[in-house]
Amino acid sequence: MVVGSSVPTAVPLIDLAPAMSELPEEILDVCRDILRSGDFIGGSFVEHFEANWAAYCGRRYAVGVANGSDAIELALRGLGIGRGDEVIVPTNTFIATAEAVSRAGAVPVFCDVDDATLLMTPRSAAGVLTPRTVAVIAVHLYGQPCDMEALTAFANSTGLMLIEDAAQAHGASWQARKVGSWGVASCFSFYPTKNLGAAGDAGAVTTDDPWLASRIRALGNHGRSISDGNRHEMLGCNSRLDALQAAILSAKLPHLDRWTQQRESLVQLYRSRLKDLPGVLLVSEPPPASCAHHLNVVRICDRERVAQVLARRGIGTAIHYPVPCHLQPAFAGSSVSLPVAESAAGELLTLPLFPQLEEARVHDVCDALADAVSAPSLVGQRDHRTPTTDGGHAA
Ligand SMILES: *Cc1c(COP(=O)(O)O)cnc(C)c1O
Repeated sequence: MVVGSSVPTAVPLIDLAPAMSELPEEILDVCRDILRSGDFIGGSFVEHFEANWAAYCGRRYAVGVANGSDAIELALRGLGIGRGDEVIVPTNTFIATAEAVSRAGAVPVFCDVDDATLLMTPRSAAGVLTPRTVAVIAVHLYGQPCDMEALTAFANSTGLMLIEDAAQAHGASWQARKVGSWGVASCFSFYPTKNLGAAGDAGAVTTDDPWLASRIRALGNHGRSISDGNRHEMLGCNSRLDALQAAILSAKLPHLDRWTQQRESLVQLYRSRLKDLPGVLLVSEPPPASCAHHLNVVRICDRERVAQVLARRGIGTAIHYPVPCHLQPAFAGSSVSLPVAESAAGELLTLPLFPQLEEARVHDVCDALADAVSAPSLVGQRDHRTPTTDGGHAA
């Protein structure tokens, strides 16, 4: 699958085929065995992947669910969060984070992000705290971990539950501690384009709390009691991981760290080429962060024109995300102003990145970008390299 352009691209935004072809042929035997076994939902392949994923994240439990959006909703419901509760969500995220809060019956309250990292901070979260706030969702957007020490301290001092949305950050860490191991519950998506992607939809919640793990598992299985399958102790839903996805994820997991390193070295190449280019601003990565570079996002003043120039050269780009969540029609009514995210949204551009991308192609993209930004229309642009230090929500 090639995403990013309808015409054949010289440099696609993302290409999922090479990762699959790196898997050993035995994966086909495993899939055939599963198809012959008739054991499609749950079962030993799911249990095996859950155990490996929990261990990878440094957690006691991983509960497989149908997708990353369900992972967030079920984590919230498992924690008893619902009607009357407010949950702080950064406005610069994929809408699924906020949508899951609403689906759980609670209200997402959006906070702004830091101008340098484009992530939420304790200061931006503190600005939207109310007596109804019960939880905060730290979104490790683009594969960059939030400052989890600071957010943990903030959650502890305010009595909030800290939940992680790590859908874009498999294997990233803050202070050498992996994302997925910080929150009371941490949520992952294994959507095909994510850093660890299935061949369909899949997700998981990680936690150290055995009670929470079994509650999330029950909620995703119609509230069914473990001891008596005909007894439904609460109203849940159908959100289960299937054996084929679990087998594919287990086959890919041993490659994840190498793929992450490949992403890292490609991004460093991009950064070294782009760091002095006028009109291009890099997203900052504070040293305690070890990033999993899901999306290669830069900020460009004259974004629309530059994206067109790249498209004409067959380079796939995208925007993550053009409209901050609080301005989406689905959340109409939140009349807040979150200026950092709003202004960044007009400049964000995602450049091609996947582990098997060739270095020569990175140079092609950077050459094209350099040509595009040096075009005359950019003369007189505002100085683009002095972000304010914190996107803290003031009012
Ligand atoms: C992909 C994603 C989700 C949702 O995951 P799905 O598996 O697509 O439901 C949630 N949050 C973020 C930040 C994501 O990127």
